[in-house]
This record gives sequence, C-alpha cells and structure tokens, in this order.
Amino acid sequence: MTPATLRRTATTGPTLILDVAAVTANVRAISAIRRQAGARGAGEVMAVVKADGYGHGLADVARAALAGGATRFGVTSVAEAYTLRDLGFTEPVLSWLNPVNADFTQATRAGVELAVPSHAHLRAVARQTPGAGVHLQLDTGMARDGTPPEQWESLCHTARCAERAGFVRVVGVMGHLACAAEPGHPANRRGRECFDWGVRVALGAGLRPRDRHLAATAATLSDPRTHHSLSRIGAGLVGIDESGRVRLRPALRLTAPLVTVRTVPAGTAVGYGHTWTSPRATRLGLVPVGYADGLPRCVAACAQVQVAGVRRRVVGRLSMDMTVIDLGPDPAACSARAGDVVTLFGPGDGGEPTAADWARWAGTLEHEIVTGLGPRLRRVVTTHTGPGPDERATR
Ligand SMILES: *Cc1c(COP(=O)(O)O)cnc(C)c1O
Repeated sequence: MTPATLRRTATTGPTLILDVAAVTANVRAISAIRRQAGARGAGEVMAVVKADGYGHGLADVARAALAGGATRFGVTSVAEAYTLRDLGFTEPVLSWLNPVNADFTQATRAGVELAVPSHAHLRAVARQTPGAGVHLQLDTGMARDGTPPEQWESLCHTARCAERAGFVRVVGVMGHLACAAEPGHPANRRGRECFDWGVRVALGAGLRPRDRHLAATAATLSDPRTHHSLSRIGAGLVGIDESGRVRLRPALRLTAPLVTVRTVPAGTAVGYGHTWTSPRATRLGLVPVGYADGLPRCVAACAQVQVAGVRRRVVGRLSMDMTVIDLGPDPAACSARAGDVVTLFGPGDGGEPTAADWARWAGTLEHEIVTGLGPRLRRVVTTHTGPGPDERATR
C-alpha cells in the first residue's frame, strides 16, 4: 500500500463527513423559494464555491450543487476558477476578486467570466483576454468591492465603448448587500435602490447585461426584491442561513475517537495553564482534535461535544492537537469508553452541537468555523449524515 492508501484506510482518526445530499437539498430549497417568489429564467442559482467550497470540499460541493439545480459557479480568484476547470467542470464560472495584474489570459477560452470593479480592471481584462464576458460590479453600500457609485456612469460608458470595439462583452451587472443578515436594516433598502439605479444607468449607456445579481444567501431567503435574474449562493449551499428565515441542512459532521478515558480525583488541574480544576472525582476523555484542526481555542469555557448520546463539556484549554472533555463520574449517565466516537458538531438533529454553536461559543460566524477546518482531518463523503457503509474517503 502507498502511504496515501494507508492514510485513507486509517478510518479511526478525526473525520469530517460531508453530506452531499444536504447540499443538493439546500439548493433545491433555495431554488423553490426563488420560484415561489416569481423569479424566472435560467441560471437562477450560482453556486459560490470559494474557499474550497466553504471548507467543505470544492469538487464535492460543486457536484452536489449542480445536482440540486445550480447552473454555474462563483469564485473569488481566477485561480479558483481554473481549479474548477481542472476538476472537469464545464459550467460557466464568474470570478470576482483579482488584482489588476492577475493573469486573465486563459479566462475567455476557459469560459470564465470576470467581475470588473474599476476602470483599471476593465482595461486589464480587455487587453489580456479580448472578448471576455464581464460583470460590471457596483458598490451598493459596503465600501469594499465594486465601483463607487460616483464612478459608475463613467465605467458603464467606457465599458460600452470597449464592447463596441469588441474588447469585452458586458454580460452582467452585480452588487452585494452589507446587512442582508438583518432583514430590517435600513441599508438593505438603500442597497436595493442603488442597484436598481445602477442597472438603469447601464441600460441607459446602451449595455444589455443578461445577468443582474445582487443577492447572496441571506437576501435571497429574506427578500424577493433582491432576486433579479440570479442569486449567488454560498453559505446556503452548506446549510448556513444567517437571516434565520429558512431551515437549511448543515452539511458537515466532525467526529473523533476517544483516545483514552481516565478517572481523576477531585482537585485535578487539566491542560496548559491549569485553567480548570475538577471540582469532584470524574472521568476525563481525550479527543485528538485541537486548534490546528480549526477549533477555536477561545471556546474552552463553554464548548460541548456529544459522546455516547449525551452532551459533555470541554474542560481546560484546547491544545493544538487535543481537547479534554469531562465525562462525569457516573458510567451509568455516560457510558463512553476509549475508541467511542465523539461528535464535535453535526447538523444538530441527534442532539449534538452544531457548527453554529461553536461559532456562538467563539463569538464568530459559522462561516469562520467551517472555512477554518484544518487540512489534516480525514474527509469522507456520504449521502446521509451519519457515518455509514456508503462513506467514501476523498483524501
Ligand atoms: C461570498 C460571496 C457570496 C456568497 O455569499 P453567501 O452569503 O455565503 O451566500 C456572494 N457574493 C459575493 C460577492 C461574495 O463574496
């Protein structure tokens, strides 16, 4: 056996299980919401698979999203777009975050469309990849990416000139909302109105963009007025709905085996810095995952895991590679033994913590938890959420 094969057959270590059926179901649910709201047209869901498919695995998330009805992909850099091509995906791809000196030369030939957030980008794209399909990107209220509104008319006119001369094809206009996770926030109305104005300006300049897109997951789920011709869905693919409006299915489960279980007397200090001392005699379990695997070290005071069907507290500091849990003194209340599977997080329907719980404990977003998971976790794919016989190792 090669080392890679040996690694893959070491099935007992810390494991990330991706439920591809959840991704497919989430895309279907989001498409249905767009349809019910009256959105029409092909290409209604762009699967945003940046950051390795939100840490879930680019190829598997991309494939599962297509199975659910997504028709194209969105990524940040052209490098991510070319990775999709290397993996054999032939669907349209939009790349929206590149420095002006990025290598765009392959983009048009590879069917990769490029967002244009400035005049300089328009020039760079037109020079390097004549005939490129571009999406003019308007800053609709984030002061982050996109052309500031005061330069928009000029960008639209310059783009129209470049289009007439055959240097670019303006196939889309895009914006992005800063506060869509808070549906009542006044910035959402301002962002919507800014986008509507931006589209009118583009049409007035003689552009005829096929795609008009403003909404990511939260806006799509909470406000049909943001739908336009297309939604860019990233978090929603993997079951994250920041708007809190729709129950999507989290697609990841993180498990690890209990390495040891030991009984300690009252007054036993645990881990680096002795930040926790057992108030009574208890059993401690050692779990072989830590902050190098992406678990936030700051959660130690409140984090929980599930083992033998019950929630158990994390005690002491998380280490780089390991975490200690308090199994309690009573084997009748928690029968966990060495070798048993500990669930760090999962979809939550079996009583286990969720990635959203870890995010809350850490004072961050679920996005940060799932995109921060470390590369040494074994990754497997399943079509249901529990570990089972159809598991397939991917790395
Ligand atoms: C990441 C990203 C998205 C996807 O957002 P989600 O809220 O994860 O669906 C959409 N548009 C842009 C510009 C992005 O950067």
